Amino acid sequence: MLKIKNLNIDVNNKIILNKFCLSINPGEIHAIMGPNGSGKSTLSYVIAGKKEYNISQGEIYFKNKNLLYMKPEIRAREGIFVSFQYPIEIPGVSNDIFLYNSLKAIKKYKEKKELDRFTYKKIINEKIKILEKSKNFLQRFVNVGFSGGEKKINDIFYMFVLEPELCILDEIDSGLDIDALKIVSKIINIMKNKKRSFLIITHYRRILDYINPDYIHILYNKKIIKSGNFSIISQLENYGYGSINAK
Ligand code: ADP
Ligand code: MG
Repeated sequence: MLKIKNLNIDVNNKIILNKFCLSINPGEIHAIMGPNGSGKSTLSYVIAGKKEYNISQGEIYFKNKNLLYMKPEIRAREGIFVSFQYPIEIPGVSNDIFLYNSLKAIKKYKEKKELDRFTYKKIINEKIKILEKSKNFLQRFVNVGFSGGEKKINDIFYMFVLEPELCILDEIDSGLDIDALKIVSKIINIMKNKKRSFLIITHYRRILDYINPDYIHILYNKKIIKSGNFSIISQLENYGYGSINAK
């Protein structure tokens, strides 16, 4: 699904990732943990195609296609979804218009089919029920006036509707109340299948207890220094990131 080889990233003369490697197979859930400022969000921005980062070395393949040659919108249509740590607001564009046009563009690209409003509404209505949300939020402008947690739920709803193949969630659990965290985890568990992969960036164990990732990676000193299972988290919680670096 995703293969990152020896990636070097810098921005404004600051090296952020160095010889970074990561492979994610279809159906796998991976989690990345790392101290503040270790480059987790940068990684998600680079995969999404944000321009300001300089990739001085390395390769990223998505479904065996060279991702770095693709424009951001093509990456999205190919099946990459990134929920940013700080979701942006788009005044003047309703959730409804945003979702309809996004889904229409993806379906046109993948299935060569025009999505009509009737089919779109059917999809939305089914999924809203599962999300346990009222329909009112569809008429609101994208993220405008939403609380931090509401923005995250909004993003999860986009992911649920757009059905991407690679879901990258950057601190989706930060700022969520207990019920919202359960809803986010529920949607991830519903969406989990043999063909879809997840990369969950988090600081906390709680979401990982709900979704049970296949691998947990520690990003430290510009690369992944350790990968493993829940035992890594116990070590982190007891001794901090320094202890992992020391081993
Ligand atoms: P994380 O998400 O792991 O907390 P980030 O990826 O947001 O970390 O940032 C990694 C480092 O890169 C931080 O030290 C941050 O200040 C720095 N950084 C990110 N973007 C820029 C930029 N445009 N100019 C300078 N430094 C940046
Ligand atoms: Mg971050």
